Amino acid sequence: MSEERKSSLEELRAAEARLLVPTYDRNAVLFERGEGVHLIDEHGERYLDLLSGIGVNALGYAHPAIERAIVEQSRKLIHTSNLYFHRGQAELALRLVERTGLDRIFFANTGTEAWEGALKFARAHAGMLRSEGMRIGTKFLAMEHSFHGRTYGSVATTHKLKYREPFEPVMPGVEFVRFNDVADLRTKFSEDVCAVLVESIQGEGGIRPLSLEFAQVARELTRTTGALLVVDEIQAGMGRTGKWFGYQHLSILPDVTTIAKPLAGGIPLGAIACTDEVARAIHPGMHGTTFGGGPLACAVAIAVIDAIENEGLLAHALEIGGYFQQRLRELQKRHTMIAEVRGIGLMVAAELHSSTLARQVVKRMLERRILINCTSDTVLRFLPPLVVTKADIEEAIQALDAILTEETAEAQLAGGNKDGQ
Ligand SMILES: *Cc1c(COP(=O)(O)O)cnc(C)c1O
Repeated sequence: MSEERKSSLEELRAAEARLLVPTYDRNAVLFERGEGVHLIDEHGERYLDLLSGIGVNALGYAHPAIERAIVEQSRKLIHTSNLYFHRGQAELALRLVERTGLDRIFFANTGTEAWEGALKFARAHAGMLRSEGMRIGTKFLAMEHSFHGRTYGSVATTHKLKYREPFEPVMPGVEFVRFNDVADLRTKFSEDVCAVLVESIQGEGGIRPLSLEFAQVARELTRTTGALLVVDEIQAGMGRTGKWFGYQHLSILPDVTTIAKPLAGGIPLGAIACTDEVARAIHPGMHGTTFGGGPLACAVAIAVIDAIENEGLLAHALEIGGYFQQRLRELQKRHTMIAEVRGIGLMVAAELHSSTLARQVVKRMLERRILINCTSDTVLRFLPPLVVTKADIEEAIQALDAILTEETAEAQLAGGNKDGQ
């Protein structure tokens, strides 16, 4: 390949098809840069991004605070290992402790790794309680439709069979509870359980908020035995719902929570936040990571948190998210194919009656240069950057309105043709 000539999308596609393990079914778009809520492809075409790299780019693209943190920190120190001190971890941990309401932080690199660590902490905590004479088992109760990542503990606690079955045997000792079914939780909960595992709002499962009642019963039951309540905030956390963490809408404080996606503005970083009681079970050498909590990732995360705070993005997420849902509900009145609109803050979904239509709408939105995706078969998912404006939302609503109108007309035409024969 000559130096000045760049590969075309078609060439890249062919090269990837030959060179990569085929884990992804990518959309045919080649992005080269981003600005605010827009991504820009190789032809200079702008796309409105309402997915933000699956909830990662909370401050949008090319945010000056992120750029500054990367430039300044990369000139000083990118990596040291966890054998030595650097200035970032304590400073970032303090910010996370203040915002989670928990006591201590462990830094990992990704969501699944934070979740994996949280599972280990729960088993270690139960082991510590047993050594102190308490009766508590090693079983996990996870939720139907949950998603916690791709490593072994994470897939074992993820509900969808297709993520687990090809890789069996996965981690044993997991039972699934029907989502938001308090009676099922009460039946399955016992002294055998070391932790109840929930997302405050299920993300991949279709933007489904945990009910207040379920959250509170889970909190009460776990308190009776010493089991932990572990809340996965990897998608809902860090301000997306208008509060720092989704569980703060549910008036509960978990024993453990996991944070990742938007934490360091696109630089990989995950974190576990837990109580002093949980941390009592962990001793030097029991758990660790080479990269986790490195100087660069910590510096960027500090900048992200400060920008969310300084730009008032929690209040903004709540206001714009409310406006978005209201506009979607107005669409629902005119388009019967929208079954339900739900979400909190800027974690928003419109569920359709048909999975074929949902896939089609995502495709048509991409043709109109608006990025959304479809999760849980029928659910249109919106995870825009927190800096999204009313005008951006309006653009998406107009596009959806036009697409749904076209699809209705086409369906009627197809139906009409059939009737005429
Ligand atoms: C994305 C996600 C994960 C996994 O995070 P990775 O960084 O992809 O490993 C875990 N839990 C939830 C709720 C998620 O949305």
